[in-house]
Amino acid sequence: MATDRIFENTEIAFQLKSDSELERAYFLFKMISHQPLVRIGTAATNFALKAHLPVEGLIRSTVFDHFCGGINEKDCLSVVENMFNKGVSSVLDFSVEGKEDEKEFDAAMQKTCELVEFAHTQDSMPIAVFKPTGFGRLRLFEKKGNGLAFTAQEENEWNRVVARFDNVCKLGKEKDVEILIDAEESWMQDAADDLVEEMMLRYNKDVPIVYNTLQLYRWDRLDYLKQIHKRAQDKGYKLGFKIVRGAYMEKERDRAEEKGYVSPICENKAATDDNFNETLKYILQHLDDISLFIGTHNEESSYLAMELMKQYGVLKNDNRVWFGQLYGMSDHISFNLANHGYNVAKYVPFGPVKDVMPYLIRRAEENTSVAGQTNRELNLLKTEKKRRKV
Ligand SMILES: Cc1cc2nc3c(=O)[nH]c(=O)nc-3n(C[C@H](O)[C@H](O)[C@H](O)COP(=O)(O)OP(=O)(O)OC[C@H]3O[C@@H](n4cnc5c(N)ncnc54)[C@H](O)[C@@H]3O)c2cc1C
Repeated sequence: MATDRIFENTEIAFQLKSDSELERAYFLFKMISHQPLVRIGTAATNFALKAHLPVEGLIRSTVFDHFCGGINEKDCLSVVENMFNKGVSSVLDFSVEGKEDEKEFDAAMQKTCELVEFAHTQDSMPIAVFKPTGFGRLRLFEKKGNGLAFTAQEENEWNRVVARFDNVCKLGKEKDVEILIDAEESWMQDAADDLVEEMMLRYNKDVPIVYNTLQLYRWDRLDYLKQIHKRAQDKGYKLGFKIVRGAYMEKERDRAEEKGYVSPICENKAATDDNFNETLKYILQHLDDISLFIGTHNEESSYLAMELMKQYGVLKNDNRVWFGQLYGMSDHISFNLANHGYNVAKYVPFGPVKDVMPYLIRRAEENTSVAGQTNRELNLLKTEKKRRKV
């Protein structure tokens, strides 16, 4: 491969970490690598928070501070500025999950609009993000996607979901802040996809402001992309897509088995990797129509993207291609890419400690279940500790 193995430079990767932060990260990933420990830790933490035991301080100084920027957006500013000084932008992610009532949905929309306004004033934050189920009930998306008739009450409820999407996307257009919309469970995703397509038609006439997400562990997504590409060409609007492998694999497989339908997930990891890389290639070949945000911690896919960009004559800092990793993970990819002039943004989650626990638990579980990921982090940290003689 013509591209040098730039991710091996741990000095660049961990340039923002003090020696003690390096030690903390090492300790944390070491703990996370033990599945039983994560299970016990998760149960104990949930119990302690529910019982109002004073554990917030402990969570904050360990796992929270490693994976989150703070409890509110102002709290995140020092993290954001430090990363921006090294060429890495931020996507502030209000990571409160699992809320189910209208007041919470309105509050999440309000918060997202504030973040769009905030992003508009900060060069370090060119992009905002939200989750569909942050703005409406999963069951409502599911019912809509299945084409089932709504009651009058549900019809009103759905109209409010549409209005929340529209408020944020419209503001993004006004403020020139790109809006990434996350993808979630496949059984709610059809309705979300249709709604995001409507937003793209409305706000992506000249430039892509609204981005949907393709989860490439789903074997049907490249076909979906080709179909929506044709529709966008016919109707004359731009597409924006974040591509990821997908975070709900076990849940997807379990549900498919339980309900007796064909699993939407690729049959193995290699098939997911091929699907991801093929989609990456398809989009890079059609950049005039489709802009790309590559959300991955996978080194080979990142090298492939760099290689293809070079091959197709796409500039490293072309605004139609962004790389993204989660805060607290894969700094070797983020900071080395930025150091070489690529567009990079970290998702920086924030929110009250108690409310971001589902997010943190998912990260811990992901790092436990994804073979390789934790070892990769540990090896890099070890190399850097050795280099610094810590
Ligand atoms: C910036 C950013 C935004 C994100 N947004 C979203 C989002 O909107 N929605 C979402 O769902 N996730 C999202 N994610 C999470 C993302 O899906 C996971 O981080 C990702 O799955 C980890 O994969 P990876 O590309 O880093 O590579 P790897 O670590 O190489 O791949 C691991 C992934 O491969 C897949 N996989 C593993 N084993 C198998 C198998 N046996 N069969 C089939 N597939 C397998 C799974 O998806 C698994 O998570 C986001 C991640 C980032 C960095």
